Amino acid sequence: MREVPDMISLPDYRLILSDGSMKWVQTKGYRIEPANHNDDRYAWVSTDISERKSNEQNLNYLANHDPLTGLRNRLQLAERVESEIVRSKRHGHSLALLIIDVDHFKSVNDCYGHMAGDLALCALAAVLKEQIRSIDSAFRYGGEEFVVILPEESLEQALQVAERIRLRVSAQPLQLESGDVNITVSIGVSVYPEDGDGYNRLVRVADDHLLNAKRQGRNCVQPAYD
Ligand code: GH3
Ligand code: MG
Ligand code: MG
Repeated sequence: MREVPDMISLPDYRLILSDGSMKWVQTKGYRIEPANHNDDRYAWVSTDISERKSNEQNLNYLANHDPLTGLRNRLQLAERVESEIVRSKRHGHSLALLIIDVDHFKSVNDCYGHMAGDLALCALAAVLKEQIRSIDSAFRYGGEEFVVILPEESLEQALQVAERIRLRVSAQPLQLESGDVNITVSIGVSVYPEDGDGYNRLVRVADDHLLNAKRQGRNCVQPAYD
């Protein structure tokens, strides 16, 4: 006797309907009890699973992105840094990581309100995106802290990028609907391979430099550029 499965499940697929809209479809075949052993017939049932797919995609998006700024979140950062390190090792490239922390952000909330604070973080995220190349990426690391990773950049190049970001932020106020808000940022920089060859180590070194930048009086980049 041949082995025939009682149920066949096709991979989920998409249908483009004549009006141009799209539906996700799940199709399963249930074996109909055969009249004889050579007759394996199936009843095929297709189900519209668009809503479930859309919920899954939303959940997936929410798990990987910061809902306020739309930047990728810390979970994605760890994965991305580890995979960039593997790539850098293979190609003999360096890799730089910047931690960017808004100076005295608590007083922005105190002066303008929490809502304006939120909008300021979104505006800052937009500035970061505008200042980096397409192969770089920006992440929201936590509250008012962001991380930018710069593949194939040396310490010297990364310090220049960090300084450009710092200058841009301090020179132009963030334009919110409620009015202009002036902020400054402090930035700590670390680079693979000099500072370490793992995510935790690179973050720790950049964080130490960030702490130094705060101690130096804020609105600066550490290590200092000679
Ligand atoms: P420092 O220069 O030392 O970094 O001072 P700071 O005030 O920025 O640092 P601190 O860590 O004391 O405060 C961070 C503030 O950021 C406090 C918190 O309310 C605010 N914050 C964190 N996340 C958000 C957010 O999503 N929205 C808003 N509006 N504020 C946030
Ligand atoms: Mg902070
Ligand atoms: Mg801060």
